[in-house]
Amino acid sequence: MNQKENNKTINFSENDIRPDNLMDMERVNMLKDIGRLLQKRDEFVEINCPACESTKRTKSFIKYGFDYHQCKKCETLFISPRPDEKILNWFYTGSVLYKYWNDYIFPASEDARREKIFIPRVDSTLDICDKYLNSPSSILEVGAAYGTFCSEIKKKNIFQKVVAIEPTPWLAEICRKRGINVIQETIENIEFSDDNKFDVVVNFEVIEHLFSPKNFISNCHRLLNKNGIIIITCPNGQGFDFSVLGDKCESIDHEHLNYFNPTSIGILLESNNFKLLNVSTPGKLDAELVRKKVLSGDISLDKQKFLEMVLIDRWDDLNESFQRFISNNLLSSHMWCVAQKI
Ligand SMILES: [Zn+2]
Repeated sequence: MNQKENNKTINFSENDIRPDNLMDMERVNMLKDIGRLLQKRDEFVEINCPACESTKRTKSFIKYGFDYHQCKKCETLFISPRPDEKILNWFYTGSVLYKYWNDYIFPASEDARREKIFIPRVDSTLDICDKYLNSPSSILEVGAAYGTFCSEIKKKNIFQKVVAIEPTPWLAEICRKRGINVIQETIENIEFSDDNKFDVVVNFEVIEHLFSPKNFISNCHRLLNKNGIIIITCPNGQGFDFSVLGDKCESIDHEHLNYFNPTSIGILLESNNFKLLNVSTPGKLDAELVRKKVLSGDISLDKQKFLEMVLIDRWDDLNESFQRFISNNLLSSHMWCVAQKI
């Protein structure tokens, strides 16, 4: 992602993709989910840093009953002990929060999501492919969910082969109904022959949910052609709203086990035989998310006069340029990474 892409202007408000009137029940369902997951706490597994495997860490905070640590070497923030793959599979299959999203939030926000998330996501992906590859012909999305990205990228007629991996049965069924070639399987169980791999593997907001990002990255590597590229989006644990809000940041929840940063995602990729090509943080919502927390009284900026001036007193004239500054300097909480198989 280059400067030009970072500066693309999208009129984007949090309310478009998470309608305020549906979020109270969302919270009730989230708390039910957390209760279910914590039933298994005795079976959680201690891990080293998921990026650099260092054992040295500091305990940052406890939230919703989960322990958060920060790696002393690469500053990745992560949950440990954490649910393993078996527990996570059980958890997501019975998630009442996912059912609520599926029944209410996605239908109410689908058009806005398509326009404001998925179409720009397709455009950014194609810009990256243009920059780093010569006529790629195949793309694999891991964790395709409703298949919106695959549907939109198929419309562009750039790739001869567009394939989705989606292990959750009801989501895979939705992909199938949309005419997407979907493999209903987890990535580690998929075998492709050497002449049937992909030029591009993408995964959007997946890696932060995983017990073992390392296994995931090595499986993505296995499914790529030589010199093929992987594109990852995930939270940046050093982003503006994470840094200002700490444990009050809404993105810090039981589902997100790993919060990499621009340096540590590179360490993870390079230790799995990728060459890091680019990291960018084109997020749009950091300043708005912090401002909302101030306006709702969840945090106070009484001792942060500069932030109070930017986010409250002079919001109307500063918010766009302030968010642009955040995004252009690897300081947004939403991160894109591109790496090449070597
Ligand atoms: Zn680390």
